[in-house]
Amino acid sequence: MVHRMVEAMSQLQEEKARLQEELAALQERLALQDSDQQATSTQLQNQVENLKEKLISQAQEVSRLRSELGGTDLEKHRDLLVVENERLRQEMRRFEAELQELRAKPVAPCVGCEHSQESAQLRDKLSQLQLEVAENKGMLSELNLEVQQKTDRLAEVELRLKDCLAEKAQEEERLSRRLRDSHETIASLRAQSPPIKYVIKTVEVESSKTKQALSESQARNQHLQEQVAMQRQVLKEMEQQLQSSHQLTAQLRAQIAMYESELERAHGQMLEEMQSLEEDKNRAIEEAFARAQVEMKAVHENLAGVRTNLLTLQPALRTLTNDYNGLKRQVRGFPLLLQEALKSVKAEIGQAIEEVNSNNQELLRKYRRELQLRKKCHNELVRLKGNIRVIARVRPVTKEDGEGPEATNAVTFDADDDSIIHLLHKGKPVSFELDKVFSPRASQQDVFQEVQALITSCIDGFNVCIFAYGQTGAGKTYTMEGTPENPGINQRALQLLFSEVQEKASDWEYTITVSAAEIYNEVLRDLLGQEPQEKLEIRLCPDGSGQLYVPGLTEFQVQSVADINKVFEFGHTNRTTEFTNLNEHSSRSHALLIVTVRGVDCSTGLRTTGKLNLVDLAGSERVGKSGAEGSRLREAQHINKSLSALGDVIAALRSRQGHVPFRNSKLTYLLQDSLSGDSKTLMVVQVSPVEKNTSETLYSLKFAERVRSVELGPGSRRAELGSWSSQEHLEWEPACQTPQPSARAHSAPGSGTTSRPGSIRRKLQPLGKSRPVPV
Ligand code: ADP
Ligand code: MG
Repeated sequence: MVHRMVEAMSQLQEEKARLQEELAALQERLALQDSDQQATSTQLQNQVENLKEKLISQAQEVSRLRSELGGTDLEKHRDLLVVENERLRQEMRRFEAELQELRAKPVAPCVGCEHSQESAQLRDKLSQLQLEVAENKGMLSELNLEVQQKTDRLAEVELRLKDCLAEKAQEEERLSRRLRDSHETIASLRAQSPPIKYVIKTVEVESSKTKQALSESQARNQHLQEQVAMQRQVLKEMEQQLQSSHQLTAQLRAQIAMYESELERAHGQMLEEMQSLEEDKNRAIEEAFARAQVEMKAVHENLAGVRTNLLTLQPALRTLTNDYNGLKRQVRGFPLLLQEALKSVKAEIGQAIEEVNSNNQELLRKYRRELQLRKKCHNELVRLKGNIRVIARVRPVTKEDGEGPEATNAVTFDADDDSIIHLLHKGKPVSFELDKVFSPRASQQDVFQEVQALITSCIDGFNVCIFAYGQTGAGKTYTMEGTPENPGINQRALQLLFSEVQEKASDWEYTITVSAAEIYNEVLRDLLGQEPQEKLEIRLCPDGSGQLYVPGLTEFQVQSVADINKVFEFGHTNRTTEFTNLNEHSSRSHALLIVTVRGVDCSTGLRTTGKLNLVDLAGSERVGKSGAEGSRLREAQHINKSLSALGDVIAALRSRQGHVPFRNSKLTYLLQDSLSGDSKTLMVVQVSPVEKNTSETLYSLKFAERVRSVELGPGSRRAELGSWSSQEHLEWEPACQTPQPSARAHSAPGSGTTSRPGSIRRKLQPLGKSRPVPV
């Protein structure tokens, strides 16, 4: 038992020793743990200290930031702006009051002056500035709002920071309390070793709890740090916002300063203006006062004078009153008088107008009578001159005439009498008397001058025929058409018509039309038509007027020289394309230019129609029987026939026979209207001056003189006509178709030329010296 006890004791001892070892080990571990815990707690404490420091520094920083930039500054700035705004408002109010005052002040004398304009400008500027100030106010209130919001947020952040700090302090408190508890536990453990195990366990448990608490506090610390960082970020943003608002404020300040300066300037200007206006006003008042004083003085003087006058004027006034009353009575009766006077004046005027009207009517009647008279006189004049006139034109010697004795000149003139022409024919001198003779020196204008009156009579409604007669090469075409540089009768006539018509344009309305035709071998063709080959017929007008017309003959209305030239050119082209040898053809055909002038008297409606026929006849040269055959002979016969017929017609007209053989040729038939009645005819006999042409010249001049001389007594007229027709142009046609048996029965060849007792010209102007006797 003892043994067992000893054994148990030794076992217990061993157990004790082992336990003691274990305890030592545990103690060691505990000490280690203790030191660890110590280290941890110091670390934690350090950390807590650090955090505290950081918190303090952050709190400091926050307060610093708050004091440096925070709400206080913004508030200050806002306050400043508010103050400034208030000041501006006051200033504005003051300006408005001043403006009101200025407006209230009488500125009437300044109306329209430059000051009023300037002040209006200033007023405009002021209102503009006011607008800007209002805008600024709006901006300011916005800024204030922003600042307010920022301040609120800052307060919120501060509150949260405070909460965090309190939480942290609580945590620290709790941790230190637990640390203290742990220390106490360790001490009690040291004091009692048996429950060490339990204590150790507790410590272990406590230690893990501590660790967890530590990690929690670390996490919280982390969270706090993050929050602090966030707060910093927020602070930074706010700083930036603050900075931008600073900039804005600076800008606004600058603007306000500008406005202020402008307001200042405007105010200064206004003050200056007011000053000047005040000065002006004062000056004006002074001047007005001075003037008023002077005037007053004068008025006083006048008053004194008037007073004295008044005393003398009173009796005069009485008489004036009497006069005035009399006048008043008269004035009352004046409208009646005036009405009567007006009535009588009206009646007088009406009478005068009636008189003028009747005078006008009378004048118009007289004018028409005068017109008639003029026409009659003209007719009479032309009748005295002869409705049919014959002139000769001698062309100059040309290169074509060649040289030698044949080309010598055989024609001479009378220096004293321009109606005489001498011809040396086969050595014998022969003289002729015509209405006028043009020498080779005569120009186109000279010749035109002679025919001008005839052409103008066309405007008065007369029909006119101008013929160019003569052998081929004698100058017919030259006289009628002329050259482009020196135009002949045709173009000049139209030009004259244009200018005459122009002159009468105020009273008359005229239209001028032109036709061109040719007669070849008794066939009439239109030279202006599209079909120049077409044969045209002459017909009686279907209206029963007895007038003739040519259906299908083209008529062009012309208004200018350019128009005429176009018409001539067209006619010429038509002729050239139709005939290969135009020169020869034209010498074998009659070319007619028919100008019609139609007029209407604008006041009376009277209508006139005049026709001007300008005829370039076929060559009058005789073709010997032996030398001609075939077509040439036919041409010659046709020419001879038509020229004979023309001679017959003219002769019949001049001798005033009852029957005129117009129908014997196309030419005379076509020209019937223009040859009969009070129509006028001019025959231009063209003469070649050279020796070789003398027999043809003699023939032409004989023809001319006979045409002229038929105007004799009725008996001799007939005799002349007979000799003419049968002897000359009917050389190849003895059985002339002239239906005038009575005239033919009296034919006495050769008798008419020798005795011409009754020519009008000779009656008026008897030839003194020996009259040349034609052969
Ligand atoms: P016709 O028509 O009678 O056959 P022209 O008129 O053709 O004759 O004239 C023949 C030539 O004589 C033309 O060369 C023309 O220029 C010329 N001639 C005719 N008359 C005159 C004149 N008065 N002055 C100058 N040359 C003329
Ligand atoms: Mg010719």
